[in-house]
Amino acid sequence: MEDRTPQPTWRFSLPWGDLDVFADGRVPESLRSTAAVLARLEERFRPALLRFHRRPEGGAYAAVWPPDRPAPARVATGVARPDPRELEGVVLAEVRSLTCHVCAARFQAVYPDTGLPLFGGQLSAHRLVRGCPACGGGFATSRIQALALSPGELSPDRR
Ligand SMILES: [Zn+2]
Repeated sequence: MEDRTPQPTWRFSLPWGDLDVFADGRVPESLRSTAAVLARLEERFRPALLRFHRRPEGGAYAAVWPPDRPAPARVATGVARPDPRELEGVVLAEVRSLTCHVCAARFQAVYPDTGLPLFGGQLSAHRLVRGCPACGGGFATSRIQALALSPGELSPDRR
């Protein structure tokens, strides 16, 4: 019998939960809208599910590798289980809509979650986009700040 649930490319086992990262284009239903936005960005932005042992339903995130650090090796078939040390510098982020307070341009923003264990403390490995790329308004006026921005509205059916 075929298992139709897409399998992660990497599964990282942490003391308090698992992080499943998807890199071959197929993602579970709960990650589809996140993956649609990330597909327009660099490869270091990957759809991911974070499951706490005590809350197993799993949260939809973008796992974001630092620009100067490659993602782990893949395996030909099945799920690779890299050493959790390969997560050094990786930040987990949510995709959310941001609107520029100056020009009202809308963006899908990859927005870091700084409240998570491990990942929340690794933001210094990243450079944030600060300010609105549409009008040039700085962060203080536009309130735009994110790991990455993608223009426009969320379109869940795009891959
Ligand atoms: Zn603007």
